[in-house]
Formats: sequence, structure tokens, C-alpha cells
Amino acid sequence: MEDLIDKAAKAIVAAKNPIAVTGAGISVESGIPDFRSPGGLWTTYPPDQFATIDAFEADPEKVWKLWFALGESLAKVSPNAGHRALASLEASGHLSCVITQNIDNLHQEAGSRKVIEYHGNARHILCLTCGHRAPLDIAACGGHAPRCVCAGAPIMKPDVTLFGELIPPNAMRDSELLAQSTDLVLIVGTSAQVYPAAALPMTAKSHGATIIECNTAITDFTPTITDLFLQGKAGSMLSLLSARVNALLA
Ligand code: NAD
Repeated sequence: MEDLIDKAAKAIVAAKNPIAVTGAGISVESGIPDFRSPGGLWTTYPPDQFATIDAFEADPEKVWKLWFALGESLAKVSPNAGHRALASLEASGHLSCVITQNIDNLHQEAGSRKVIEYHGNARHILCLTCGHRAPLDIAACGGHAPRCVCAGAPIMKPDVTLFGELIPPNAMRDSELLAQSTDLVLIVGTSAQVYPAAALPMTAKSHGATIIECNTAITDFTPTITDLFLQGKAGSMLSLLSARVNALLA
């Protein structure tokens, strides 16, 4: 593993425009379960019943139960060593941007400045009628779906991309441009199952980028596009990687 970390660190230092693409796995060590591990919120609130636009339109009060529960969980968690390692790489000039599928705001809390939220942010709410966006204030909701102040007081949606919705256009455009221009992608904790996010590393690879992947398990990326596979928990792997980059720079 030491040799792999060394190779990955050298590739990052040599890269001109390295980016990271992160998924739920990087936040598991902060206490937020991913979709695929047993237990946690997603067992109580299956994504196909609580995280689709059809479910929201059919019964928003029901769907809001998940988002209130998630909001309460998010209020108790903090960034972990994996988030901090990516922020440190950015601070030393060796990471241009983090494209995250996560909706938990933990990259920003760890100090990452350039973050593209591919699936939105669960700490905000959005009115589908007038476009008003606001922070989610769970206490003010009193257990009911929040309503907008615009005409008709429509129920607001969590500002996340539900299954069946389009990716926010700016995030989609900026990510695609980065995927086409980057020379190195560090993929962390994503199962490669959710599209179009899963296509970004493939686009980068087809444009010649080096792919470094960190995951506890093999994914569809691993045998197809990954050049260096750092198998293990993101917290420890990315800490080692960031420390090795710093050592190379010293
Ligand atoms: P996923 O749940 O499909 O896959 C998570 C991946 O992380 C798996 O491949 C797993 O092996 C790996 N993993 C688990 N623990 C890890 C660790 N400690 N270190 C490194 N890797 C680890 O996640 P996904 O690919 O991001 O897709 C799920 C969708 O659900 C995304 O769209 C995301 O928006 C959403 N989601 C977000 C959060 C969050 O914001 N924290 C949590 C759950 C789901």
C-alpha cells in the first residue's frame, strides 16, 4: 500500500488540473450511512419511496419525513479526516475542485472552497413555483413540510436532486467541462451506480486523465478505468495520501 500511496501522491503533484469526484462513502466515517450498507436512514426510508420526484409530488408530507430525519442527523455530524485531506490538497494547490454527489455540506465545512454540488444540498429548500431558495429551519417547520411565501403557499422541496430530476444545469455544465479538461481524477467512495455522476470519471479517462480510486470495495470503475486503486477507508487512505503529497513538496 505504501508504494501505491507514493505513486498516487507523485501523480497528484505532477498533475496540472487534478479534481476529486466524491460519493456517500467519504461521509460514512462521519456517521452518515451510504445507500448500500445495511442499517441507518436508508433502511427506514428506502430511496425509491422517499427520494424520487414522483414520491415527492404524490405525497410531499410523507417524503419530508426522510428529509427532516436527515436534517436532524446532519446537524450532529462533522467532517472527517477524508474531507480534511481533500481540503488540504486544495489549500496546497494540488486539487482544483471537488465534484460531490453528497448533499451533506461536509466538504465545505472541512474547508474545501471549490465544491460542485452535483445533487444539491439537503440543508436548503427550494420552491418549485417561484425558485425561492432558503436554509432549512427544521424547528420552524413544526413537523410539517415547509411552505413558500409566494402565491398559493406551495410546499417547498429539499434542494436536492431527487431520483427522476435533472442535475442542476450549472453543476452539470461545469462538471462536464472539468471532466473533459482534467488530467487526474481522484474518485472517493462512490459505487459508480448513480448516473450521470458515474459518467464523469469515464469522460475524464477518455480524454486521457489518470484515475486514482479510493474505496473500501471494488466498483465498476476499478477493473475498467482505474489506474491506481487505494482500497480502504477514505479517512485513513486520504490522510496518508495528503501527508505523502506534503512530504514530496517539503
Ligand atoms: P453509494 O451509497 O452508492 O456507494 C458508496 C460507496 O462508498 C460504495 O462503493 C462503498 O463501497 C464505498 N464506501 C463505504 N464506506 C467507505 C469508506 N469509509 N471509505 C471509502 N469508501 C467507502 O454512494 P454514491 O455512489 O455516492 O451514490 C449514492 C447517492 O446517494 C448519491 O447520489 C448521493 O447523492 C446520495 N447519498 C448522499 C449521502 C451524503 O450526502 N452523505 C449519503 C447517502 C447517499
